[in-house]
Amino acid sequence: MKKILNPNKNEWSALMQRPTRNFKEIEATVTQIFKEIQQKGDVAVAKYTSFFDGIELSKISVSDVELKEGIALVPNELKDAIKQAKTNIEAFHSAQKTERITIETTEGVSCWQEKRPIQKVGLYIPGGSAPLFSTVLMLAVPAQLAGCQEIILCSPPNKDGKINSAILYAANLCGVTKILKVGGIQAIAGMTFGTESIPKVSKIFGPGNQFVTVAKQVATQFGIAIDLPAGPSELLVVADDSAIPAFVASDLLSQAEHGSDSQVILVSTSKKMITAVEKEVEEQLNKLPRKDIAEKAIGNSKLIYVENDTIALDFINEYAPEHFIIATANEDFYVDGIQNAGSVFVGKYTPESAGDYASGTNHTLPTNGFAKNYSGVNLDNFLKAMTFQKITEKGLQNIGKTIEIMAEAEGLQAHKNAVTLRLNALKNKNI
Ligand code: NAD
Repeated sequence: MKKILNPNKNEWSALMQRPTRNFKEIEATVTQIFKEIQQKGDVAVAKYTSFFDGIELSKISVSDVELKEGIALVPNELKDAIKQAKTNIEAFHSAQKTERITIETTEGVSCWQEKRPIQKVGLYIPGGSAPLFSTVLMLAVPAQLAGCQEIILCSPPNKDGKINSAILYAANLCGVTKILKVGGIQAIAGMTFGTESIPKVSKIFGPGNQFVTVAKQVATQFGIAIDLPAGPSELLVVADDSAIPAFVASDLLSQAEHGSDSQVILVSTSKKMITAVEKEVEEQLNKLPRKDIAEKAIGNSKLIYVENDTIALDFINEYAPEHFIIATANEDFYVDGIQNAGSVFVGKYTPESAGDYASGTNHTLPTNGFAKNYSGVNLDNFLKAMTFQKITEKGLQNIGKTIEIMAEAEGLQAHKNAVTLRLNALKNKNI
């Protein structure tokens, strides 16, 4: 990990850089694959599945038999763990439901807002280097709570042409309506245009590597909504002398093992803590089965010493981490002051892994600085807020003149007429 002492403000922007390739470098590949899939459907999907995942598939969709066989392979202990995580995620997300809002803005003018589900949603479940069945819970649970009618799931096939059995189990448990063996750019393109096997959806959700993230952004050019740019994982820990170096190191490594393009950062007001964490990272890293991946991510990562908490907080708000762990004695300073972070983990006994799996919060979060302007996935992402209004005769008389004056001032005579005709009719009725 690179050690940086007291960086000047003019060095900050370089420290904010993530190790991902930029949008432009990937966009050309994405555009090419999108074009081919739009024109050739399943044939082009099969071509890219063979190219990127190294497997020829005769059928993209998972059959009932495959689903049953997959579910049977999941050990009971894992099934129970998944069920407990689901219960917590359900509890947290169903508490996000909002009531219908009704208000009479003027006498006789009633306005109300109600949330209705997005009918067709597509969930992307990463499967490249680790089959993230936990992501199924994070996306399908709120989709089901929202009442989405069609919940499509895409995940890359493994070398045997299968989807990980725990992904199948979680999908079945959470009401996914169709499961497809397709990953990467080709999955996002399939859900954008629809192919013979892949249904077109209205909104695409889910994290993924940089190719998936750019593909989701390109999908928006074709009228598809997306949840957020949720790319390679990141974690920033702020720690002072009260932190436990072994805990901090384990948290940093937990995100580093996601992918070689992950980034982890320690910001500290204690040089002693930085040295202790660095030593712990080395020790723990050597024992990890995913050492090779984590080591590359650790190579991109930084240990940053700053003089005081105010500078630390300014830096963190500018970096806008996906995950932010507060391991300091003065937790409240950071809890109150953090403006830009996807999800915040407070205190020594709150590892980031808890939010990844089972505490109840969502783990699909904005990366690459997007925590400045995006929220992580929540129930509202699966809903549309629709507004309604009903105006009585008295109500139209109360606001009619205002509408007429405004419509005329904008030069929109037909708008004005729609009111004038009705007001005249009311006059004739002597109301
Ligand atoms: P993935 O499913 O996202 O990507 C695998 C697919 O990428 C492959 O199936 C292949 O089709 C495609 N691909 C691979 N190399 C390619 C290339 N050179 N060109 C075009 N396409 C290519 O799985 P993954 O790679 O393991 O990545 C998962 C990512 O999700 C990690 O980066 C992890 O950090 C991230 N993640 C983010 C969040 C979040 O909320 N931000 C949550 C969980 C995971």
